[in-house]
Parts: sequence; structure tokens; C-alpha cells
Amino acid sequence: MRTIGLIGGMSFESSAVYYRMINEMVRERCGGLSSAELLMHSVNFEDIVAMQKAGDWDGAARRLGDVALKLQIAGAECILICTNTMHLIADRVAARISVPLIHIIDETAASLKAAGRKRPLLLATRYTMEHGFYADRMKNLGVEIVVPEAEDRTVVHDIIFNELCAGKVLDSSRQKLMQIIEREKAKGADSIILGCTEICLILDPDNLPLPGFDTTAIHAEAAVGFSIGDERKQKAA
Ligand code: GLU
Repeated sequence: MRTIGLIGGMSFESSAVYYRMINEMVRERCGGLSSAELLMHSVNFEDIVAMQKAGDWDGAARRLGDVALKLQIAGAECILICTNTMHLIADRVAARISVPLIHIIDETAASLKAAGRKRPLLLATRYTMEHGFYADRMKNLGVEIVVPEAEDRTVVHDIIFNELCAGKVLDSSRQKLMQIIEREKAKGADSIILGCTEICLILDPDNLPLPGFDTTAIHAEAAVGFSIGDERKQKAA
């Protein structure tokens, strides 16, 4: 089993989900009391949020690059940045390490394409919905995403930072997200990208009016695939 390196803390609410999902998948696939070989460096999110607000993406790239390198030196054989937003600087983090960076956009695009989805609605932070890095990379991979109207983007962004990252899951906010989904469905969206690693805390991807693609689960699954490869098959043989 290869060791997974997680850059977490953005927020710790979703890092806990990654930790649980990865371990549950390994136990399910390898059997018995199997659990994942993993290292997590969890950063102080307040520092990262300050850089996001200031548009200091160079500083953020340096900080997360340092963390990735530390994880590699400590034995991580792959690196995951456990947030969609900070994939804005993922290429610069990847350039600091010699182990693979498992990219959340690439893995999500592959899932969408495998399911034949052509017009996914992205629900995410303002940075992810508006900065272009997500849409551009998806487009290069053959997926055209749509984002909510400006007012709705503010609603989604605020729910993420003011509530989900702060450990609050409110029914009233779930209803607001469902209304946004219904509006975009009426305009032609054919699927939903839960494009923030906390959104799975408030929306069940299997219980939406359109097929849901949970980036946290997709990313965790890719890490497990990297870590255990065909170990399960070898055991069965
Ligand atoms: N975890 C969130 C994401 O997937 C938001 C936190 C952040 O800004 O990094 O984008």
C-alpha cells in the first residue's frame, strides 16, 4: 500500500470527511481491519483565507508548496490538496514535488465524462466559480461547466465560508441550494458538481434532482486507487 499525503485544514470540516472516506474505502476493499497509510498536514485555514481575500496566490502557492514538500520528505508517495479552491495554484505545488499530485479537477472531469454529462452546474466558492482556472481546465478536458447567476454565486460562497467551514449545516441553506439547482436545471444543466469539499456536508449527491458529482468522494477514491492499486485483486488471486 502506498502512502497518501493530504494537505488538509481547508477547512478541517472537509479534511475529516477525506480521512473517514479514504479509510472506509481501504477497509472495504482490503478487508478485515485494513486502514489507509496516510499522512496529513493540516494548515491554519485562517492564514489561507487571509491570502485568498488579499489575492495573494503567490504566497499561498509558496505555503502549500512547502507543505507538499514536507509531506513528500516524510514519506508521502502522492499529494492531494483537499480543497477545490486551492487547485488555483495546484500546478505550482506540483512543481515543488517529485511524487504525483492527484488533481481534483482532472478526476472530476473523468467522472463526468464517464457518466456522459455535458452541462454540469458547478457549486463552489466564488474563487472556483469565477476565477476561470476550474472552467478552463475542465474545458481542456472536454467538459463545459456552467455556474449560477451572480446573486446565487454569492449565496453559495457565503454558505460555504460562513456556515459549512464553521461547522454549521442549516436546513434553510440546503433549501436555498436546492432552489439554485432547480433554476439551473430549468436552464439546461444536466448534473451538479459539488465543487467545494464541504458541500457534501449539506447536499447528498445521490439525492438531488440531477446526478451529483461529489468532488470530495471522487478525490478520495482516486487517492485510494493510487494507494492500493490492484492489491485487492492480488489478495483474491
Ligand atoms: N474546501 C473548499 C473548496 O473545496 C473551500 C475552502 C477553500 O477556500 O479552500 O473549495
